[in-house]
Amino acid sequence: MSIRYISTRGGVPQADFRTVLFAGLAPDGGLFVPDSWPSFTPDELRSLRGLSYPETVLAVMRPFVGDAMTEAELEGVIARAYAPFRHAATAPLRQLGPDLWLLELFHGPTFAFKDFAMQLLGGLFEHFLARSGETITIVGATSGDTGAAALAAFAGKRGVRIAILHPHGRVSDIQRRQMTTLMDANVLNLALEGTFDDCQAIVKAMLGDRALADELHLAAVNSINWVRIVAQTAYYIHAALRLGGPDRAPVFVVPTGNFGNVYAGWVATRMGLPIERLVVASNTNDILPVFFREGRYARSGVTPTLSPSMDIQVASNFERLLFELCDRDGDRLRELMAGFADEGTLSVGHNRLARAREGFGAAAVSEAETLAEIEDTLARTGEIVCPHTAVGLHVARRTQAPAGAPVIALATAHPAKFGDAVERAIGRAPVLPPALAGLVEGEERYDILGVDAAQVVERVRALAGG
Ligand SMILES: *Cc1c(COP(=O)(O)O)cnc(C)c1O
Repeated sequence: MSIRYISTRGGVPQADFRTVLFAGLAPDGGLFVPDSWPSFTPDELRSLRGLSYPETVLAVMRPFVGDAMTEAELEGVIARAYAPFRHAATAPLRQLGPDLWLLELFHGPTFAFKDFAMQLLGGLFEHFLARSGETITIVGATSGDTGAAALAAFAGKRGVRIAILHPHGRVSDIQRRQMTTLMDANVLNLALEGTFDDCQAIVKAMLGDRALADELHLAAVNSINWVRIVAQTAYYIHAALRLGGPDRAPVFVVPTGNFGNVYAGWVATRMGLPIERLVVASNTNDILPVFFREGRYARSGVTPTLSPSMDIQVASNFERLLFELCDRDGDRLRELMAGFADEGTLSVGHNRLARAREGFGAAAVSEAETLAEIEDTLARTGEIVCPHTAVGLHVARRTQAPAGAPVIALATAHPAKFGDAVERAIGRAPVLPPALAGLVEGEERYDILGVDAAQVVERVRALAGG
C-alpha cells in the first residue's frame, strides 16, 4: 500500500521512502517522484479544516511515508520539527487587502521558508540513522538561506555531520552569522574565495565521486530532495482550507528560484486541493516566465539582484513538471534534458505549453518594481516585506482572479534578513528581531579557503574523523 518512487528519467527501479529521503539525484540523473498521487476527496479536505499546522503536515505526509514509519513516530518527528517556530500559527495568514493575503513563512529558526522542509528533514534523518546506527556527512553549497536552514536543522543531531560551503563575502552578514556562530562539533563552515557556482561545483564533484561518497557516507539535502518538496505542500493545503477551501479555490503567487516551492503547490492540486492558479513570480532572471510565455526553456547568465535567493540560471525542480508534461514518459524527458544539456535550450510544443498554462501563470519583476513594491506595501499596509516577498506581491496585485477568489502571496523570508535592500527602498533597515540581533554579538567559526577541491575534501574528511 506504500507509495513507491520512480525517476523522471525512467532508469531506476522503484525506490522506497527512506531511499528517497537520503537521495539527492536519482542514480540515473533524474529526480524522484511518487509513482501515483494520494488524493483527498472534498469531504476529506473539509475534515482537515481547523487542524493545527503539525496535524495538517501529518495528514499530508502520511501517505508518502507509508509503512516506513509508524504514525506515532512520524507524529513525534513533526511535533519536534515545528516546535521551534516563533508564531503560534506556524504559518500565519495576514490580510493585506479585500482579497489579498500574505502567507508568512518566515517564523522558523532561520527566518526563511526553507525551515519548513529542513526542520522536518533534520528529524527524519535522525530517526532513520538512529535505527541503522549509521553516521553520514551532509555536504552542501549555499548562497545564504539554504545553508542556514540546513545547519539549524542538523547542528548537534546524532548520526550526522554537516559541512556547508558558501562564497566568501557574497552572503549577507546575517546569513553568514546564522551559519558561523553555531559551535556544535558536527558543524563545518567553509567560505570559498569564489562564487556560489564554484562552491556548488565542488559539492557536486564530491557527491559524484563514488569512492569518496562511500568513504565519508556523503549525503545531500539540496532543493531537489523529494521530502523537502512534500513538506512544503502542507502549507498550501493549510492556507487554502483556512480561506474556505476546498469550496473556494485560491490563487497562490510564489517568489520562485529553483521551482521547488511552487511545485509543492502543484503537488497539492494532485492531492485534490482546488487551486485557481499557481503564479510564478521571478526577478529579472526570467527563464521560467519566458517558458510559460513561449514554451522555450533557455539557459542564460545569472544577473545578481536584490532578491539573491531567486538568482538562478536553471530551475532544478522544473524537470518534475516537464516530466508530467511528457505524460511521465522517462525516455522522452531524457531526450529533452540531453538536448538542454548540450544546447542550453529546450522547447515544448503548443499542446504541452497550453497544458502548462492551465495550472500556472508567470511574470518577471524588475529591480525598480521590487523597490517600489516594498515602499508601496509599507505605505498601504504598514508591513515591511523582504525583497523576495515584494517580487511576489508586485505580481499578486496585478493578478486577475475570479471574483471572491483569495489571492495568497507567499512571504518567503523575514525583511531583517535583507536589511540593505529594504533600506534602499524605504530609507531605513527593518528592526532586527531579538534572535537575529543576538547573532551580531556571537563568536564566529569558519575557515576561508581558495577554490580548491582537494583542500575542501581534506577538511570534510577531518570533520568525518578520518
Ligand atoms: C529559496 C528561496 C526562494 C526560492 O524558492 P524555490 O523553491 O527555489 O523556488 C525564494 N525566496 C527566498 C527567501 C528563498 O530563500
